[in-house]
Amino acid sequence: MVLGELGGRIARAIQQMSNATIVDENVLNECLREITRALLQADVRFELVRDTQTNIKNAVNLDRLATGYNKRNIIQQAIFNELCKMLDTEKPSFTPKKGKTSVVMFVGLQGSGKTTTCTKYAHYYQKKGWKPALVCSDTFRAGAFDQLKQNATKAKIPFYGSYVESDPVQIAIEGVARFKEENCDLIIVDTSGRHKQEAALFEEMRQVSEATNPDLAIFVMDGSIGQAAYDQAQAFKQSVAVGAVIVTKMDGHAKGGGALSAVAATKSPLIFIGTGEHMHEFEVFNVKPFVKRLLGMGDLSDLIDRIQDVGPMDQQPYHTQPEHMQKLLEGNFTLRIMYEQYQSMLKMGPMGQCRVDAKRPGKGKPSKCRVDAKRPEKGNPSKDEMLHELDDIDPKLTESRTMRIARGSGRQVAEVIEMLDEYKRWANSWRSKMKGFLKIPKKGGMS
Ligand code: GDP
Repeated sequence: MVLGELGGRIARAIQQMSNATIVDENVLNECLREITRALLQADVRFELVRDTQTNIKNAVNLDRLATGYNKRNIIQQAIFNELCKMLDTEKPSFTPKKGKTSVVMFVGLQGSGKTTTCTKYAHYYQKKGWKPALVCSDTFRAGAFDQLKQNATKAKIPFYGSYVESDPVQIAIEGVARFKEENCDLIIVDTSGRHKQEAALFEEMRQVSEATNPDLAIFVMDGSIGQAAYDQAQAFKQSVAVGAVIVTKMDGHAKGGGALSAVAATKSPLIFIGTGEHMHEFEVFNVKPFVKRLLGMGDLSDLIDRIQDVGPMDQQPYHTQPEHMQKLLEGNFTLRIMYEQYQSMLKMGPMGQCRVDAKRPGKGKPSKCRVDAKRPEKGNPSKDEMLHELDDIDPKLTESRTMRIARGSGRQVAEVIEMLDEYKRWANSWRSKMKGFLKIPKKGGMS
């Protein structure tokens, strides 16, 4: 079961409870049973599910609710709070301070995505003005240094490693010392992994940790490992002081339960998720917006976060390039931005699908534009025309132009109209959000 499915099942259980004529103990129990089943099938650890169920029941306490209370809202809120609690350790992770040297050590099993994530993490902070550096102390996996070197070079991040030194501790010490001298304020140490948890791995990790005295140890976990997540995370936590978790490969068929269990096992917050192999496929993890999306209660606020988050870089998506960014900040939500949003969410597989639906402002049937979003990339003959429309859409399309677009994109006219209606909802929602956030002056346009 994938995360999108988990969210869908929980959301349906809440909906069924809301539809009941009278909300009593039986209705609440049935709703909780369905949520429990969904969580267990998503590989969330049994103890965690049991505690969640008990906490929701305690928080709601139907007997003590006087008449007049909106029981449905209280139950919904309790479920939302408990799901947030599962992912929120209430212990904020260490965050590096600009201009002050921090050492961050990455640990995890081989293949979890550790080396890739080190560079993504460095790149994330580099964009925000930090001066990061990468140290490869993974001497176990052949090719680890070459991989880190290649990634670091691409992102223009200084790196340190050795083809001859076989002692990872020595490399870590030398790398950290070198970058401290060079005034790097974020020194990231990639450590060795193993195929499975074993004493040698943990001993090496412990030694590297002792030698470099990191401010933060990040446990990197493959999001698709399911039930094994809790024990794996706990084993790492017992060897080094894990202070944060990053779950990778959330673009595939990741089991959401693994992520939840790792957070519970390490009592450390999930700070980022990896959503692809490329450098920019990396997202800051925020509990509340995530759970909201999971339950279909999403809005555009995470999109705003992402847009406010970016700095200059070569491979930026269209909407984060400076000239378009300015437009966007003025409240101009173009069709191309909607297209990009759909594309990036579609890439996230079923989880992204859940997010597409959750993010759509307003209710109603999802438009076929989720599918159309892929079309222009497929090199169909109308590509230029379609891209032009994406940049410069006129909401008051004439009938003939609508027909031309339909012809050019191989779609029915009704589908084009439906997609434009959806676009208008996004654009209006965006404009009102931006007004709230940035106090922009009202602009004419979409209605
Ligand atoms: P390490 O052995 O833990 O250092 O793992 P690597 O960084 O070498 O990653 C193992 C594989 O997972 C590589 O093929 C990466 O490209 C891939 N990978 C890493 N993170 C992600 C992710 O978030 N999504 C996807 N789809 N692949 C990833």
